[in-house]
Formats: sequence, C-alpha cells, structure tokens
Amino acid sequence: MSKRKLSIWGLVALLLLVGCGNAPSPVGASSAERTVILISIDGFRYDYFDLGNTPTLERIASQGLRVDSLHHVFPTKTFPTHYTVVTGRHPGHHGLVANSMWDPDRDARFSLGNREAVEDGFWYEGGEPIWVTAENQSVKAATFFWPGSEARIRGVRPSYWKVYDGDVAHEERIAQVLDWIDMPAEERPRLITLYFSTVDSAGHRYGPREAPVQMALEEIDGQLGTLLDGLEARGVMDETTLILASDHGMARVDFDRYIMLDDYLDLSKVRVSDWGPATQIWATDMPVEDIVSALKGAHPKMRVWAKEDIPPRYQFGTHRRVPDVLVEADMGWMISNKPYMAGRSQFQLFGMHGWDPARIEMHGGITMMGPDFVAGSESPAIRSVDLYELMPHLLGITPSENDGTLAPFTPYLNAQDPIRYQTVRFDCGTDTVEARVAPMHMALHWENEVHVLDRIEGEINGPSQIFGATGLSFSFDEDGASVSIDDRFVADCVTIQ
Ligand code: AMP
Ligand code: ZN
Ligand code: ZN
Repeated sequence: MSKRKLSIWGLVALLLLVGCGNAPSPVGASSAERTVILISIDGFRYDYFDLGNTPTLERIASQGLRVDSLHHVFPTKTFPTHYTVVTGRHPGHHGLVANSMWDPDRDARFSLGNREAVEDGFWYEGGEPIWVTAENQSVKAATFFWPGSEARIRGVRPSYWKVYDGDVAHEERIAQVLDWIDMPAEERPRLITLYFSTVDSAGHRYGPREAPVQMALEEIDGQLGTLLDGLEARGVMDETTLILASDHGMARVDFDRYIMLDDYLDLSKVRVSDWGPATQIWATDMPVEDIVSALKGAHPKMRVWAKEDIPPRYQFGTHRRVPDVLVEADMGWMISNKPYMAGRSQFQLFGMHGWDPARIEMHGGITMMGPDFVAGSESPAIRSVDLYELMPHLLGITPSENDGTLAPFTPYLNAQDPIRYQTVRFDCGTDTVEARVAPMHMALHWENEVHVLDRIEGEINGPSQIFGATGLSFSFDEDGASVSIDDRFVADCVTIQ
C-alpha cells in the first residue's frame, strides 16, 4: 500500500498515536550557570520582522534560530496563550480559557482589569508555570510581568516579581533585568520573563502593520538592543538563551463587520462570558440545544458548536470553564451586541485577535538565540505548547507534566551545522499545499492556514514521510500527498516540481 493511500483506520491510529505523543524529554547537561530570558512582545505578528528598522530582532534571528512563525492555542488571546507558553498546556487544560471567563464551581468571573482575580492562584491551578518548576528545583525566577506571575500558584511565586503596570517605562524593565543578572550567584535568577504591551495596543487601535505599530516595535527593538549590549558587556552571552515570542498575531477589523448576537438570541436567557472573534456562552435559562439551533446558520460569517462538538484540533473541550456553547466568527468579523455597540463611536478598534490559531494572521513572531543554537538555523512554524519543554531542558531541570514535546527542537539543539528545512509543494486540484519539512516536525501551509504536525515516519528528504497531530494528518511520497484537517480530506495531491 502506498503511504499516501492510508486507510481511514490508519489515519485514526495515527491521530491517536500523535494525541498521546508525550514522550519524556531528555534533560541536557546544562551548566548551573545557564540562564533563560523569555521575552513577550504582545501582538507581534509573525510577519513584523520586516515591518521596520529592527536590527536587534534581526540580530537574534540571524545569530540563533529563525522560525517562520508561532502557532498558538485557541483562543488566541493574551492570558490563555501566555499561560500556555509557560505551562505547555492547552487552555482547555490549564484553565485560562479566555481573558474574561466564568468559573461555574466558584460562580465567579475573571477579567484582566480585576486585580483580585488576576492575583488569585485559584484561576491558574490547572498548569504549572515554568517559574514554579524552576523555583521547586532551586532555580530562582524573576518576572517583569507575565500573565499569572502575580499569583501564588500551587503554593509558589517567583523569587522576584512585579504587580502589573503597563505604564512602567521600558528602560526601567531592561535595567531591572540587567540588575538581576548582576546579582550574586546565590540570589541571581536564572529564569527571567519580560513583557511589552505597546505593539498590541497600537495594533488594536490602528490595525496590523500600520505606522504606529511599526513605531512601537522599533522602540522595543531599541530597548532589546540595550539588553543584548548589556548581556554582552557582562560576558554572559554564552550562557544565556533569549526566547523572543509573541502571544498571537493581529487581523484587521472594521465596524461594518459586526454580528449582533441579540439579533438571534435572547441574551437575558444566557450568560456570555467573553465576546469578540470567539464568543463563549453558558446555558442558564435556555437549553444548550436551543442556543445551538438559534445560532446555527443564523449569520453566514458565524459558526456555532456545543462544547462537545468543538473541533478536536482546538483541544478546548475539557476544563469546567469551557463554556456550553462556542460561537466563532470568520476572520475579520466580530461578535457583539446592540447595547454595547451603541457607544461604538467612542472607541477606536481596527485590529483584533482571538480566531482559529491555525489562521496565519493569528501566528505570532518567534525567534531564539543562545549557546545551544547554531547561527543560521531555520525552522518552519512551531507550536507554542512545545516551548515549555524547551525551557527546563535549557536550564537543566525536569519539566512538569504538560501537553507539549521537545521533539521539534532536538535536532536543532547543539547541532554541528545550521539546520534548514525542506520545502515541497503540491497541487491538490483547487488548492496548492506547501509542506515545510524539518527533521522532527513540519508546517503545512494551506490557503490562509498554517498547521504544525509531528513526524511519525520517514526522514527529511526521504522518499516517503508521514506526519500527524490532533485532528491533522499529512503524508507524501514520490507520487504525491494526502492531507486531512478536521473533516476536510484531500488525497492524490501531485508534487509540483
Ligand atoms: P489582549 O488584547 O488579549 O492582547 O490583551 C492585552 C492586554 O493585556 C495588555 O494591553 C495589558 O493591558 C493586559 N495585560 C497584560 N499582562 C497583564 C497582567 N499581568 N495583568 C493584567 N493585565 C495584563
Ligand atoms: Zn495579547
Ligand atoms: Zn490584544
């Protein structure tokens, strides 16, 4: 049987295999000096590397690992995605299922502006952040902001942390990181997080890639230049890994692309815990089936799922905070309600995120450099859920249980020569599919979607290769390829020479 003509049972077996593919990762012989600095530029879309004059971003990418993009988790919102980066768990597992959410057990709401909730470990218990993993293994951690870092989680806080205040000058953040690096060995944190919000704010206000976004990014690039110079001056570059990531991308929205949920649903009979590209609804005074049937087909730019029907690829269905009903708008469309939008002239919103993480517009920027990476290496898109495994590896400590895998990174770590990926293109009838194939993973570029899959069989540049991930499979040989994404299946795609 040719590899591309996998039977449906073959596919099922393959998906199951990938679904539980959490092999324990090897912990490298990292020295006790190793430091990891994890930096988030909120709302820095994957294609902002060429947006402006950003020599520091280029310095990191060219001296380390250049990655096409970062595939996030659903929903592509700040708290869920940041918490996935530091826990390696999906939101439906770590429990931060939205920026605004409701907990049915406690009958309580969480929102970013609610300081008491943001600082309450109750909301974060479903995952173990890397700073907790580190502190539990006697590695000190310091956070200059990160979602979750202000709470005591599983009884532990970072040794050094700050109460979130978006107005703290960027210079002050950089100076503090360098002061941490200067501490005596026994006090010095070896895991440091740093966070910047201005690119996201400008993206929301003006839209992706607009001039204010470029200016915000160039300013941060200058600050990061100071950080790199400071690290170099201290002679710590060869023991420090910088991971620069973003929490999601950004897409254009406009006021003529709003769907009013109250056109189709009596909002007094439901609880809506979050609005926007993906809206989360609880059945309070109306059965789930009635909500679903009221919204199914109601608007051509809107999809609705009961909790158990959410596509498996989203990996969203298990936590008690996952709502009864999920409604998702098409890219660029928003879901709101008439009372809220009555005041719409008072706010300016031309950028948003929160849609399907596979959509390329939702992919974040990512690059990293450090002693374990060879300059000139290039990777196809990677998954944010896999970043957690990388950090304990670099620090020489043991990771906690999580949903990710170190596998995509292992060929790149301590490689002799730069590693680059193979690009193969296929004609699938109506669509062209591009496979960007690395030693242990691949990115599947299909229309506006980019999916990340793990290698199941075959070798890079080999004659026949098979890849899979939850809800996804892709295989190809010299005759062609077959692709399966959710309930979409295309076989007999022909190689484009
Ligand atoms: P989003 O629109 O989902 O990208 O959310 C971005 C916003 O999250 C930022 O503008 C900040 O105001 C907010 N934010 C980021 N970190 C924190 C934090 N640790 N505590 C409270 N709010 C935060
Ligand atoms: Zn964000
Ligand atoms: Zn945002």
